[in-house]
Amino acid sequence: MDSILVINAGSSSVKFQLFEIAQNRELTLLMKGQVGGIGTQARLSVHSRDNTVLADQAFSRHEVPDVSAALNRAGAWLRDRHNVHPVAVGHRVVHGGPDHDRPVVVDRSVVAELERYIPLAPLHQPHNLAPIRSLLDNQPHIVQVACFDSAFHRGHGPLADHYAIPEHFYAEGVRRYGFHGISYEYIAERLNRMAPEVAQGRVIVAHLGSGASMCALLNGRSIETTMGFSVLDGLPMGTRPGQLDPGVLLYLMLQKKLEPAAVEELLYHESGLKGLSGITNDMQELEASRDTRASFAIDYFVYRAALHAGMLTAALGGLDAFVFTAGIGENSPTVRAGIAERLGWLGISLDRAQNDARAQLISSPQSRVAVYVIPTDEELMIARHTVQLLAANTRA
Ligand code: ADP
Repeated sequence: MDSILVINAGSSSVKFQLFEIAQNRELTLLMKGQVGGIGTQARLSVHSRDNTVLADQAFSRHEVPDVSAALNRAGAWLRDRHNVHPVAVGHRVVHGGPDHDRPVVVDRSVVAELERYIPLAPLHQPHNLAPIRSLLDNQPHIVQVACFDSAFHRGHGPLADHYAIPEHFYAEGVRRYGFHGISYEYIAERLNRMAPEVAQGRVIVAHLGSGASMCALLNGRSIETTMGFSVLDGLPMGTRPGQLDPGVLLYLMLQKKLEPAAVEELLYHESGLKGLSGITNDMQELEASRDTRASFAIDYFVYRAALHAGMLTAALGGLDAFVFTAGIGENSPTVRAGIAERLGWLGISLDRAQNDARAQLISSPQSRVAVYVIPTDEELMIARHTVQLLAANTRA
């Protein structure tokens, strides 16, 4: 059996999914797992497709001090317990820089190039690259593919791609890259299969998870998005503020004398739903809370999401369809209803029962804009790209 391993590595966890490749290149999920708590209390947990627990194993800090060790543990478990030898590995890499508009097969020279983008995404890129390097060292025969969160937005025109700061910064790489592109590409493909005539129109996809952004799709291609240079801009998120007047940062650093590291901590880990509510970054917990600060944080999230949808509608010159996806988008009828209500002026109206039931199509028959809930699957998208590039690599 040929299989593909998909790896999504962060600072404290390595998540992975294993897919079987059929003769016709169809992919079937076999298992998903992660090594969490890297560097503290590491734990390997793996589930089958039907959620049966396949592994739940704790390690000491000494046994799994870093991402590379976590990958070795997971790899050893896959080999020894399940005789798994993947023919290729696909990686999620946050930043592909200004030029990568599609996935690539990685070798040492590509890794060296991707390391140049570490300053652009210091909290993600090094962790994304660590397992690639580790596999190049230990299993150099395995084909590895990098899929970039920024790639899907690379067709943006110069108006969408620039900040209004001196041009030399643009040349240096200070651009509006946009992220969550693997998710948007998956949704664009799904929508095209579900409703091809809708997918050819003007569509907003709202990826609302712990990280959140929106993308304007015109004929299936990204033309604008709410995130920019980093994953901080746009919508408020679990712990990130979203759009923020840069004057606030100047105030914090110059008047309040906050060190850059403290500002970074504030922006990445202490803001958003967590900062606003003072309770939690988790939407489900906020919805369960009776605290007024929790309902304020939800209202704020809904309000800002609707404002950004208005902006993207202007970029598209109108709107034919709206898609909700990711943890909050797929699972919170309340947030969906709140955003839809604020977009009533665009001709959006939801079918309440369909929204509550999380149907695929949740707009009412009178709605001028079709509204969908489509679960995203970034790992499947990465696996598909990996199979395609593996085939191309084998032919070459
Ligand atoms: P990520 O993959 O970026 O970590 P997810 O896409 O899993 O994030 O989204 C996580 C968010 O989805 C959390 O805020 C979580 O509370 C929210 N969420 C998950 N299930 C529900 C639910 N049933 N109702 C409301 N929010 C939910």
